[in-house]
Amino acid sequence: MIPDPQPPSPARDDHPLLRQEAARCVACGLCLPHCPTYRKTLNEADSPRGRIFLMAAWLEHKLPLSPQLLGHLDLCLACRACENVCPSRVRYGQLVDGVRALIEPGRGRPGVQRMLRRLLFGTLARPRLLQGVGRLLRAWQRSGLQALARGSHLLDALGLGRAGAHLPPLASPPRNGLHPARAEPRGTVGLFLGCVARLSDAETLHAAIFVLNRLGYAVQVAPRQTCCGALHEHGGEQETAQRLAQENRAAFAGQDLQAIIHTASGCGATLATYAPPLAAPVLDISAFLATAQGWEQVSLAPLEQTIAVHEPCLSRNALHDQDAAYALLRRIPGATVTALASNDQCCGAAGIYALTQPEMADELLRDKIDAIKASGARTIATSNPGCAMHLAFGLQAEGWKVAVLHPVTLVARQMGYEK
Ligand code: SF4
Ligand code: SF4
Repeated sequence: MIPDPQPPSPARDDHPLLRQEAARCVACGLCLPHCPTYRKTLNEADSPRGRIFLMAAWLEHKLPLSPQLLGHLDLCLACRACENVCPSRVRYGQLVDGVRALIEPGRGRPGVQRMLRRLLFGTLARPRLLQGVGRLLRAWQRSGLQALARGSHLLDALGLGRAGAHLPPLASPPRNGLHPARAEPRGTVGLFLGCVARLSDAETLHAAIFVLNRLGYAVQVAPRQTCCGALHEHGGEQETAQRLAQENRAAFAGQDLQAIIHTASGCGATLATYAPPLAAPVLDISAFLATAQGWEQVSLAPLEQTIAVHEPCLSRNALHDQDAAYALLRRIPGATVTALASNDQCCGAAGIYALTQPEMADELLRDKIDAIKASGARTIATSNPGCAMHLAFGLQAEGWKVAVLHPVTLVARQMGYEK
């Protein structure tokens, strides 16, 4: 046993459930070939089994909180591919989130990093502040200063080059309130906007409302909704995540909604775990549209091309709703809908992972870009805005002209939706 040079941490002793979760691992190793980071490094400490061993050892005071231990945990994408194949049903996602939350207060991040994290997590948790930042960024993009800053490498000098390169053209999110049905009425659903997505992927939100309204569903955009808390939960900020869950529960309460629809699998996976839950079932837009009524009232223009579907990790490994995107896209006449060859591996976007672990994120992205090139597809469909931004960044860097769109945006465009 390696002696723990640190004083015993009451925080980690207060969490026997995490130790119990880690103890469920029987070290069979079946998860190893499914772990993207282990596939790249072939280092046991970058595998699910190795990380569970490290977390258990730290929880039991057998290992100190060393830079090496933090490095192996930080390299984990929290993609949960390991959880999906584990015969012992180890809830790896809950385990790593729980341990990260315990570690965060004592890990001693450098001052600038601490300040940037506080700024990022604080802004995401305040929708009005985020809207204000969005307005400033839109004005910056429209003025041409963004292109100028990229050309001058000013963003690189400020350490913001990667974030700036990932930033797509921003647009205004849908207005708050009720968007009435435009066909025989079939009920009302709520729409979850997300935080970054309401700015970076506003077109998908508008497209979702367009399709739902034309099938006969009124859409309620609850004004007091906020960030789902996923980034806070995975980043060790569990108290904030719980506060955001409470605010969302209040925002969607008492509105007689058939469902609360999301357009981002990352948000959906977090909304689905709220305890107590939201006031109506949480569903991905494609999953809702798969069983929605009213399709006989609309027509879709043909699109003679191959659409390759990139399945986001949390759609495959947590929500298990990845088939819905294919079913929705197959409504487009003439389209050939295929799975992207590397769908069993994370693209490297993983929340803010592409910003915090750029080397591994780039390696994983390279595999995706190769798969996209080999697919011959002119359009990539994905149900997560973070994946979409990351893939678009990689394609743009290679000068490869392929559109990356949400499935509902493609369907809306074939129904006549224009930006
Ligand atoms: S598959 Fe499950 S039990 Fe086996 S090593 Fe991985 S986490 Fe442990
Ligand atoms: S969550 Fe993903 S990256 Fe992390 S250990 Fe599991 S498979 Fe590997």
